[in-house]
Amino acid sequence: MKYNSTRDAGVSVTSAEAIVKGLSGDGGLFVPESIPVYTLSDISEMTNMSYNERAKKILSGFLSDFKAAEVENCVDRAYTKEKFETNSIAPVYKLDQSRYILELWHGPTCAFKDMALQILPHLLTTSVKKTGLNKEIVILVATSGDTGKAALEGFRDVEGTKIVVFFPDHGVSSIQRLQMCTQEGGNVFVSAVNGNFDDAQTGVKQIFTDQGYEQELSARGKALSSANSINWGRLVPQIVYYFSAYCDMLKAEEITIGDEVNICVPTGNFGNILAAYFAKNMGLPVGKLICASNANNVLTDFIKTGTYDRNREFFTTISPSMDILISSNLERLLYLLADKNTDEIKAYMSELSATGKYTVSDKIFEAVKENFYAGCADDDKCRETIKNTENSFGYVIDPHTAVAVAVHEQYMAETGDDTKTIIASTASPFKFNSDVLEALLGREAIEDKDEFELLRLLSERYDLHVPRSLGELEDKDVRFETVCDKSMMKGVVNEFLS
Ligand SMILES: *Cc1c(COP(=O)(O)O)cnc(C)c1O
Repeated sequence: MKYNSTRDAGVSVTSAEAIVKGLSGDGGLFVPESIPVYTLSDISEMTNMSYNERAKKILSGFLSDFKAAEVENCVDRAYTKEKFETNSIAPVYKLDQSRYILELWHGPTCAFKDMALQILPHLLTTSVKKTGLNKEIVILVATSGDTGKAALEGFRDVEGTKIVVFFPDHGVSSIQRLQMCTQEGGNVFVSAVNGNFDDAQTGVKQIFTDQGYEQELSARGKALSSANSINWGRLVPQIVYYFSAYCDMLKAEEITIGDEVNICVPTGNFGNILAAYFAKNMGLPVGKLICASNANNVLTDFIKTGTYDRNREFFTTISPSMDILISSNLERLLYLLADKNTDEIKAYMSELSATGKYTVSDKIFEAVKENFYAGCADDDKCRETIKNTENSFGYVIDPHTAVAVAVHEQYMAETGDDTKTIIASTASPFKFNSDVLEALLGREAIEDKDEFELLRLLSERYDLHVPRSLGELEDKDVRFETVCDKSMMKGVVNEFLS
């Protein structure tokens, strides 16, 4: 199976090439030329498989240029009980008759990015070998918090790779900052950027599209690649857990084969929910895809009106991994819904960079409305939802997951549709302990406590196990303290590489 660019119909590359390049030279994103289809009997067969076996089935459909043994090797190195502290890798927790929480945060950094970033380094190094590229891979990441740490953990000391991570100086939680700035490994560098996530992401994109720089690095035996959610190697592993959750619900006899489920996803860059859209198109019985945003509700407005408009106030919220005004992966959806009309996509994207907005065709808008529902929840609603969920079910959720639970409630109230819904839970409550505890116990309970006292409070009060990687942070040294301006990002990369 070949991959095309969303912005140039002439581009056709293998999956290995798409993974190595990350972003197409024309600035477009790679999309598979066709979508493998799984029948209900294929899905039934997966019911008795382990997570890893399910992953091998789904990945091999897209990575058709990989040998079976290569896919197996990547999967088995990524998803282990040691790294995920659970055999099931992505377990489903039943909240009530209509809500099933898909826990995607059992990996080493306690957020769902691990689901993709534990396997990406293996997909990438395998791809580098397959394409015969004899270069050191330099990974550049712009992060709103979780990607950065997950990428650093995934790539640390992986042979033939280096990684540089940029995060917005004011836009990540204290735990997230500490996680990144204490990162171990001989091939890693971390820097804060003055600005918000979009500044960091724009800076990284500029480095990627700087062809002179690409040539300069190439002459030095290096090639840039991305671990952001625009890399196809990030997206494809995310499809797996929607199939896996459906199979787990089948196995638990919560549904019977062929029953439709809805999927609700707390959304930022539109990667996770796009993976759910792919799953639906691959034959997974999915009804509505519910796109949940925080106060940065650019996607809510887009899905409701057909106009994407980033000209609005940017809010720093208690769900920082969703504080995004440009959702890069949306471009892939538009491309598919525009029947791969690259001129149309190019026009939207150049309008977006010139004016900050675009309006899609009626055809795309109709298809968006048919597949998606959208809603948003502000910080107050989010705190209220954390508290209510704990009160009613004794189940503690993080602020990102709370946005999804709140928007799903809004969806049920508005539509009366109580179809069983998989709600993606994207971070452990421990990762956002102060906001979670403030929501549960009030501000007084967290005042004057440091991060580690908060971890212990959350653990003791709600009888929860502190994830190993967070507990260990207390004893680590801070290795990275650089803060740079957006214009200096290339310089930071250069200095690290020389
Ligand atoms: C990245 C992230 C999201 C948003 O996911 P996208 O794929 O960017 O839409 C939501 N929650 C958490 C905790 C995240 O880390």
